Amino acid sequence: MTHRITLIPGDGIGPEVVGAARRVIEATGVSIQWEEINAGGEALKRYGKLLPEELLEAIKRNKVALKGPITTQVAEGFPSLNVRLRKMFDLYANFRPIKNLPNVPCRFGDLDLIVVRENTEDLYAGLEHEVVPGVVESLKIITEKASTRIARFAFDYARQHHRREICAIHKANIMKLSDGLFLNCVRAVAQEYSDVKYRELIVDNTCMQLVMNPQQFDILLLENLYGDIISDLGAGLIGGLGLVPGANIGIDGAIFEAVHGSAPDIAGKGIANPTAVMLTSVLMLEYLKESEAARRLQNAIEQVYREGKHLTRDVGGRATTEEFTDAVVKAISAP
Ligand code: ATP
Repeated sequence: MTHRITLIPGDGIGPEVVGAARRVIEATGVSIQWEEINAGGEALKRYGKLLPEELLEAIKRNKVALKGPITTQVAEGFPSLNVRLRKMFDLYANFRPIKNLPNVPCRFGDLDLIVVRENTEDLYAGLEHEVVPGVVESLKIITEKASTRIARFAFDYARQHHRREICAIHKANIMKLSDGLFLNCVRAVAQEYSDVKYRELIVDNTCMQLVMNPQQFDILLLENLYGDIISDLGAGLIGGLGLVPGANIGIDGAIFEAVHGSAPDIAGKGIANPTAVMLTSVLMLEYLKESEAARRLQNAIEQVYREGKHLTRDVGGRATTEEFTDAVVKAISAP
């Protein structure tokens, strides 16, 4: 079967790492018809729009997209395109596995945790206004509907994949109504899954626990903003942003993108680590039910790390993006 997939190269290091991921996916032999359309700065030049209609149509039609990072303009009036895409297609679950790779220097080994982040509301609703000069208000939106469905996503995943525990992260001692509602929804769902262990932890304590004893965690279930922050903390635990994959999953489609941003500091130099987008591709292949190809790609990446000869600079090696990618392609093709 041929899969049609929308390919969004993105900004900065996006085209380099997404191009590398495309090569390794093709090396698995899975039949894919790519529909490549960009968003962000490049799209503005070509289509006169940051989010061209052609792209939105392609995402709707193909239902699965592999996306590079798009730079978020800090200036006012430029909402994050990443956030807009997630909201537009109601990709409510952000899924980010954080797992050690061999030979990557980091403080802890044996880490295998998953961040499940609500992806559509919270402070990312982008509802901000100036009340009077010198005073601004930013609205944190938490709903029963979104909290319940992200909880259900996490518990379903835990059950299906025999994970040991879900820990809901919150600050309900201060935000009694908003985080309180989130927790109440998660608790109600937890009751239906007596086979999955459940606990709760305050977000500040979670940060301390993560840098002291991260092995205690299995699945972390969080609202949008806490999920964003804890994901980067988790990336730091296993060796950096170049290693953490991600998926934005909705009811009727998914956009796969790594946790990292466009990394303008290293863009165009050929040194970015494509591992995160390659591991993101593993998630995408699993979603497409191409389990054998997903397993081969995962094994090939791990093998290149185990050998340790073709690693990029961010993880202590000297290889370029291309040299690392060549090594993964070779490992996939090896008998
Ligand atoms: P954005 O605003 O687009 O999210 P950012 O600057 O906030 O971008 P990142 O682009 O994720 O954040 O970069 C943070 C740091 O991590 C930078 O120093 C960058 O070079 C590094 N980094 C991110 N991704 C990679 C990668 N794939 N390979 C190597 N280094 C990376």
